[in-house]
Amino acid sequence: MSDLSELYQQIIVEHSRSPRNFRVPEGASASAEGDNPLCGDRITVYVTLDGERITDAAFQGRGCAISQASASLMTGAVKGRTVAEAEQLFHRFHDMVTGAADADAKVLGKLAAFAGVKQFPSRVKCANLAWHTLHAALIRSAESVSTE
Ligand code: ZN
Repeated sequence: MSDLSELYQQIIVEHSRSPRNFRVPEGASASAEGDNPLCGDRITVYVTLDGERITDAAFQGRGCAISQASASLMTGAVKGRTVAEAEQLFHRFHDMVTGAADADAKVLGKLAAFAGVKQFPSRVKCANLAWHTLHAALIRSAESVSTE
């Protein structure tokens, strides 16, 4: 088990040092800003949609290693999925970091690296920030589509 948590630790450190999808994409369908004042994490998440499918996801921001690594891994995980699949993944991730459910690496893949966060309640918001912000961006994109 300790080998596994060491591997998970490495994934988080590596993604916080060189975050993936850290950019402002051109022609994004929607974006949203999120902040976690308790820790000082701030991020902006951008999504590009083709119908119901997320064709691109990216972010910009600053904050602690957990919040940056979470945004990095999340943007990679939701790319290519439908909005419904991304929301479902958010629920699985949320249940894992709050301790409501065990980590299911088959479903969560590398996102399972955040399973240890449940032992640190003050860091749960850091891990969830990117997902809450993605959720806000997806709602905004649905609203902008329906009002056009
Ligand atoms: Zn944080």
